[in-house]
Amino acid sequence: MTQERPAAIPDTPLKRLEDHAEFVTRHIGPDNDDIGHMLDTVGIESLAELIRTTLPPSIQDESGLDLPRARNESETLERLRAIAQQNTLMHNMIGMGYHETVLPPVIQRNVLENPGWYTAYTPYQAEISQGRLEALLNFQQMICDLTGMPIANASLLDESTAAAEAMAMLHRVNRKSRSRQFLLGPGVLPQTVDVVRNRARHFGIEVIEGEPGVLLEDGDFFGVLLQFPGVDGNIPDYREIVSRAHEKGALVAVAADLMSLVLLTPPGEWDADVVVGSAQRFGVPMGYGGPHAAFFATREAHKRAIPGRIIGVSRDAHGRLALRMALQTREQHIRRDKATSNICTAQALLAVMAGMYAVWHGPERLTRIASRIHRLTSLLVAALEPGGIVPESDNWFDTVTFQRSGEEIDRIYRRALDAGINLRRIGTNRLGVSVSEKTTRAHIATLVAAFTGSETAIDLAGPDAALAADASALPSAMQRCSEFLSHPVFHRYQSETEMLRYLKRLENKDLSLTHAMISLGSCTMKLNATAEMLPVTWPEFSDMHPFAPLDQAQGYQQLFRELEAMLAACTGYDAVSLQPNAGSQGEYAGLLAIKSWHESRGDEQRDLCLIPSSAHGTNPASAAMAGMQIRVVRCDARGNVDLDDLKIQIEACAERLAALMITYPSTHGVFEENITEICALIHDAGGQVYLDGANLNALVGCAAPGRFGADVSHLNLHKTFCIPHGGGGPGVGPICVRNHLAPFLPGHKVIAMDGPHAGNPAVAAAPWGSAGILPISWAYIAMMGRDGLTRATQVAILSANYIAVRLADAYPVLYTGRSGRVAHECIIDLRPFKESCGVTEEDVAKRLIDYGFHSPTMSFPVPGTLMIEPTESESLAELDRFIDAMLHIREEIRAVESGQPDSPLKNAPHTARDLTGEWPWTYSREQAVYPDSALLLNKFWPPVSRVDNVHGDRNLVCSCPPIEDWIEEGNGSN
Ligand SMILES: *Cc1c(COP(=O)(O)O)cnc(C)c1O
Repeated sequence: MTQERPAAIPDTPLKRLEDHAEFVTRHIGPDNDDIGHMLDTVGIESLAELIRTTLPPSIQDESGLDLPRARNESETLERLRAIAQQNTLMHNMIGMGYHETVLPPVIQRNVLENPGWYTAYTPYQAEISQGRLEALLNFQQMICDLTGMPIANASLLDESTAAAEAMAMLHRVNRKSRSRQFLLGPGVLPQTVDVVRNRARHFGIEVIEGEPGVLLEDGDFFGVLLQFPGVDGNIPDYREIVSRAHEKGALVAVAADLMSLVLLTPPGEWDADVVVGSAQRFGVPMGYGGPHAAFFATREAHKRAIPGRIIGVSRDAHGRLALRMALQTREQHIRRDKATSNICTAQALLAVMAGMYAVWHGPERLTRIASRIHRLTSLLVAALEPGGIVPESDNWFDTVTFQRSGEEIDRIYRRALDAGINLRRIGTNRLGVSVSEKTTRAHIATLVAAFTGSETAIDLAGPDAALAADASALPSAMQRCSEFLSHPVFHRYQSETEMLRYLKRLENKDLSLTHAMISLGSCTMKLNATAEMLPVTWPEFSDMHPFAPLDQAQGYQQLFRELEAMLAACTGYDAVSLQPNAGSQGEYAGLLAIKSWHESRGDEQRDLCLIPSSAHGTNPASAAMAGMQIRVVRCDARGNVDLDDLKIQIEACAERLAALMITYPSTHGVFEENITEICALIHDAGGQVYLDGANLNALVGCAAPGRFGADVSHLNLHKTFCIPHGGGGPGVGPICVRNHLAPFLPGHKVIAMDGPHAGNPAVAAAPWGSAGILPISWAYIAMMGRDGLTRATQVAILSANYIAVRLADAYPVLYTGRSGRVAHECIIDLRPFKESCGVTEEDVAKRLIDYGFHSPTMSFPVPGTLMIEPTESESLAELDRFIDAMLHIREEIRAVESGQPDSPLKNAPHTARDLTGEWPWTYSREQAVYPDSALLLNKFWPPVSRVDNVHGDRNLVCSCPPIEDWIEEGNGSN
């Protein structure tokens, strides 16, 4: 039977593929025989037939992807190496929020390069996420300590968007002020000014830039943003400004440099209401702009208004200490257009790294690092002074700015460049220098030579220099007196052996793709291949400053052009922006493009956005951020957009219809037949179609949204295109548009981009967003090639249908489409069991942990269900193991239905410790932890039992608990 299968896939390119590209057969889990078996089970002849009978004929595209053939791993890495080598590495002293940093090797190898950390999912299943929850809690503690604020979140996307979030939050929480004006103080990073202004415009907020001391006297503002230290390096004492702002009813956000706060009085101690910034220079490479973790800290009073995720302390079922994500009811999944922000994917992996940098160094070594940075800066100033070259400000931490004649500035800049150093040019006659952890005395000597044109201006090793450099240039009123990082976690792991074991101990608490499939519907947890990950830490990619001159970044520029072309080929669109650094940001950027297009045609009144009730929560949250009003479109009993309701809504919008946001295939995991008609209806009414491309894994190579009626889509490169989830980020959410929207893509104010969009405002801090991880998606597409990508889609759809068919007798599959089939994911309905015996979707999710699995997506988009997305990367053996677990669990449900008084379902997950105490249950210990004998060979032990969600929110603690609490409870490792 199975022998015939290869032939049953008519003129399949697979044979040809295998000769060239072994990678395709490694990325796709099931082999030919497995696929034959799965096709038989589903009752279909071939993969081609599966696609023919599952996708609506109106969207099927058999022309094949306009991409080269697959290349193998070594060939691909060689090509990437050649691209990387076109980047020129300099010592970057540009500053502006990005600094060279030393990534401790123990963190590089054991976190950044370790799939145990980078393949984990966002910690929604707290019991199997205690390790990264603890690491993120450390990050929050570090942020609280350094900023002097009581509460911090677990990361945002970048400093500039964090500042925009701060503005939005201040506007929400400031009930005293009715003003719609926001004040930007001097020295705010130019990319932040741009992002904040753009965000403000759509919120109906007016931004005014200037001296707060002056403006606050007569103006009326709801909020103020100050940069500390300023972008030019000076360290203002803002205490009076803050108190004046408060008197006038304005709240104050401060964008602060984290390293400087080691030595400077933190904004929390001068009464700031919010502190934001980037944790990049805490051991996270610049990566030509990202990804890095931004932070957001504020007062207790605003804890329910904080954007992004917050980790909190709670209890498990035995009352022992356990961690979880707190206050989830603020998030867009629940609050939708009323959410505090649209942030979903953030920067978890990078926050883990930055937190670990603090764990590794502790306060003493951090002080040494910060002091050395400061001393080298002072040394530079001292060395230049005798020649009459003095900085603009008489205080500084790490950055000084000089004003000279245009010609002299030119000369200095060139000489530094020739010597391998990038400086910051400001206009024609100013120059900025920022010292970093990687700057050496040799760099300073080189700079002195560049400034003076002579080699021997000062003896940098001599006693004069030492003296000059020792005199602190920090204003005495602004020197830090308070302790920080006093929690034991920042003191215990400073030998490499201890650090290694700490990292491993946390990793071992978490279930990642290194253990089992993570079949999260809508999230596409596929293979993140090692070959794709390798280039991320090549210095040519990781050590580029995002504002380095473009001629130094030719490799990156080529990578972007090629990746943009690849993504255009995969989607059928005409133009691509790589700037948005998460799906949510792509939605926002795409909606702004739609809005600007309407405005360009004189249709300013188009401000209504139709969104089906089944949409992901980020959709309505993004539409609200874009200043649109949301109208919800109903879904019918089969999970499709209710066409009648859609028509009524379109009619009701009339000239105000701006857009429809629709996910395809739908969030219900079904290919709606009517998609082309839906698009046409919207276009006829003058609207635009935003197609949420998070489910592109069901389309690549088989149908192209850019050709079947949509105008713009965001893709989640951290779903379909193999960037790992990192435990909740990083992500990349590029948008792809048809030609008419291309002039409205995001631009950048600091770096001149190519194209009609160049001068547009930005949606992220860096021109190409999280550029540092784009090699991952480039490598994936290159190694899969046109036929491999198409086959991946086919197998992803086959695997979902295989699971749906195998589970159908045990669990009702909620929605199916044409020929009774699902797309690349399927929803199983658990609500009947709640009726029959009280077993809930949560019970099943937690019981799956005992079987060694991460739950599928729970209660999205339909409460009381699980949404399973296996992806093409899971082998048949793994699919069967999962199916067996689900069937086993069905038997356990049956036992409850027939009157079993207690059940492992209700007590799941079971910890090792549960086994040693009393055992009051009627089922055995074996049944609890080894329900399947295969588990005897490979068992994942959850470190805590079921976590109490309510307790954590009622008793909110978002900082590291005292060490005694951990020890008493015996659960933690802190
Ligand atoms: C994941 C997802 C998003 C949001 O993407 P983020 O990167 O998490 O912001 C939006 N829509 C759908 C359907 C998704 O699955």
